[in-house]
Amino acid sequence: TPVLASNFIKNIVEEDLRAGKNNGQVTTRFPPEPNGYLHIGHAKSICLNFGLAREFGGVCHLRFDDTNPIKEDVEYVESIKRDVRWLGFDWEDKLFYASDYFEQLHEYACELIRRGKAYVCSLSTEEIRQYRGTLTEPGRNSPYRDRSVEENLDLFAGMRAGKFEEGQHSLRAKIDMASPNVSLRDPVIYRIKKAAHHRTGDTWCIYPMYDFAHCLSDAMEGITHSICTLEFENNRPLYHWFLDALETPCHPEQIEFARLNLSYTVLSKRKLIQLVQDKSVSGWDDPRMPTISGLRRRGVPPDALRTFCDRIGVSRADSMVDISMLEHCVRDALNVRAPRVMVVLKPLKVVITNYPEGQVEELDAPLHPENPDMGSRKVPFGRELYIERDDFMEDPPKKFFRLAPGREVRLRYGYYITCRDVVKNEQGEIVELRCIYDPASRGGGTPDGRKVKATMHWVCAQTAKPARVRIYSHLFTVPNPNETSEGLDFRANLNPDSLEVLEDCRVEPHLATAESGSRWQFERLGYFNVDPADSTPQDLVFNRIVSLRDTWAK
Ligand code: ATP
Ligand code: MG
Ligand code: MG
Repeated sequence: TPVLASNFIKNIVEEDLRAGKNNGQVTTRFPPEPNGYLHIGHAKSICLNFGLAREFGGVCHLRFDDTNPIKEDVEYVESIKRDVRWLGFDWEDKLFYASDYFEQLHEYACELIRRGKAYVCSLSTEEIRQYRGTLTEPGRNSPYRDRSVEENLDLFAGMRAGKFEEGQHSLRAKIDMASPNVSLRDPVIYRIKKAAHHRTGDTWCIYPMYDFAHCLSDAMEGITHSICTLEFENNRPLYHWFLDALETPCHPEQIEFARLNLSYTVLSKRKLIQLVQDKSVSGWDDPRMPTISGLRRRGVPPDALRTFCDRIGVSRADSMVDISMLEHCVRDALNVRAPRVMVVLKPLKVVITNYPEGQVEELDAPLHPENPDMGSRKVPFGRELYIERDDFMEDPPKKFFRLAPGREVRLRYGYYITCRDVVKNEQGEIVELRCIYDPASRGGGTPDGRKVKATMHWVCAQTAKPARVRIYSHLFTVPNPNETSEGLDFRANLNPDSLEVLEDCRVEPHLATAESGSRWQFERLGYFNVDPADSTPQDLVFNRIVSLRDTWAK
């Protein structure tokens, strides 16, 4: 079976292979900048690049695009490696850093100067912008454009040696200030930045720009298909210009695809970092975050993410994917493998008045109704139980079929019970129900075959364990948080109710030893995991991964 669903990029790669290009090799790369944690948009790119390599027997490099020292950090490098591995991909020994190429990139820049294709410009950043022109207006040549090769080499050496201040000079490619493509109007390829780099320290005070470093890194690594998002379409001629100007032996093909946009969230590291810094969330791995680490902590299984990335497809048309499609993939993955257990989120005590005091019996309950191979667990039943507060109404409306005074319901895997009395405190709040059970209904049916309209989950009060459960909703209240009214930023759309913590839940004893990160279906409530960071055997904490109901229209 194919690793990747069919898409236009896969078709291009297949066509290239048929035509015998690149000696039948497929080499791709995933090139993150280590300036933040990966998000689900990156997962799309990872699945595509690693997926193509896997499908066609090639390799995919992991390359850190670490050419901008200001915002980069080793913390991000480590998180990116962890996330790619967790998603199920392996770069083997193909781990690269653009910063390892600084010496070669510098040499390429000198070669451009020698070939008369680059010059040191002494305009300020602001002047460069003004000279650049606009989409409708051609740019103007820099007054420094015609410096001699010797003068350029000399000045560039001075830049490298730290003789100048930031902004005093830059190195620019000499292309065409009248080009209708603004990115070809003598782009800056090196700038002075007196900043320490997380890998090269203070070795350099000049750093290459993305457009220059990226195509040459691709070429040095022998990348065959350099896949990027659509915003780089205009830069494609520049990508080729550098490689042509330097006559690199390897000349990769750049292919653009539409980035993933997901409803009710933002997929931009710049924005996500703001949420972390202003503490709108608890960190990069907050289970509400669209980051890979957030989704992992939330309990989303990696194969559900891969399925999602495959199903959304790869195209050149910008669009917004509904987040319910992700939830659908998560449910699909968990339904088959998550064991079923009973948990009461908002407990209401039930006393079975005709059940012997002090007695606890054990009922046998399957861990998965459709998969006997998953086995079963023992569920204790006693005189005092908890049911869900919402499952009882003193004065029920017509369509409420669950427990009410005088009514009989089934307790899942247990007995039929009938509510006889409602006990209230001084404030008039219901604190307890007094019920009777039918000993003949053990296991969920009666000899007379009488019907009940509801089956409810419950736990035994004496043996249940306390737990905290976190219920998450969308992080933002609107499908596209980037759309705001005048003067506001995307954070104005944050959902103040995206996290609800239920402090006083009760879980059946089977969950007492649940492993960190393990995933369960709480019957009638949804899929949950044991929070990998905060849960301990003494203080259980669960996250709701998704609810049970599917709202995504297929
Ligand atoms: P951001 O806008 O979130 O900062 P970026 O593109 O600047 O993202 P990089 O670290 O440069 O982040 O991304 C690494 C790779 O992931 C790039 O090839 C980029 O095209 C791809 N990528 C980033 N965001 C998305 C997305 N939303 N959908 C698909 N691919 C993406
Ligand atoms: Mg980038
Ligand atoms: Mg970015």
